[in-house]
Amino acid sequence: MSSHRLLLAANWKMNPPPAGALQTAMGDHSANPYHPHSDIDVAVFPTFLDLHKTIAAGLISGGQYGRAENAGAYTGDISMAMLKAAGCRYVLCGHSERRANHSETDADIAAQTVAALEQKIHPIVCVGETLEEREKGHAETVVKRQLKALPLESDITIAYEPVWAIGTGKTASAKQAQGMHAFIRSLLPEDRQQKTRILYGGSVKADNAEELLGQPDIDGALIGGASLKPEEFAEIVKAGERLTANSQ
Ligand code: PEP
Repeated sequence: MSSHRLLLAANWKMNPPPAGALQTAMGDHSANPYHPHSDIDVAVFPTFLDLHKTIAAGLISGGQYGRAENAGAYTGDISMAMLKAAGCRYVLCGHSERRANHSETDADIAAQTVAALEQKIHPIVCVGETLEEREKGHAETVVKRQLKALPLESDITIAYEPVWAIGTGKTASAKQAQGMHAFIRSLLPEDRQQKTRILYGGSVKADNAEELLGQPDIDGALIGGASLKPEEFAEIVKAGERLTANSQ
């Protein structure tokens, strides 16, 4: 089990908020798994159109993307400064769907990360290899290259998301994920190794969450599909809470 407070980040992608997610807690936070919890961190990443609703409902919220420039002729984009003004606590940088569908480069993602830090939004930066890269034995080289571009000396969170495990139902085994997380940690500057949270993402579900979150170098999870199902997400939250309670 990690020595960090676990973070469960719910990436809703291009989907509306799940049923009940916007309901205010009325004193009983356990009734809504997306609400802030006392022993673990939970954050949601809705579409830009729904951000103001999640923030108004008291959910810790983040953008799925933010552009590095503050303003200008960038049709369809939104800046880190705008996310900050809206009340975002977090932002995802370099999700593999952005790398693939919007041709975001390591340099773009580094610039977004720096811009988020300047706006005092906490960046969660995604790294991870494709199936082809893993099969060729290049997984570590690819992740190392992606990390090298980043301001690793800063207070950022890294999400290891093997692309072949995202939305596919294939999960890295706990051993594979732990191995890559330990490798990533070893690449961080010495004074950041124990401070930086490293999340795992890729088909995290109710039935594999406890094993993955129980690994020493896995400090939380970035969850797509299962975060859209309130009951399943609640089970993942419970797994995180159980692990935390058992480690105290
Ligand atoms: C993600 O979107 O970052 C993700 C990990 O998705 P899924 O959990 O559906 O694999």
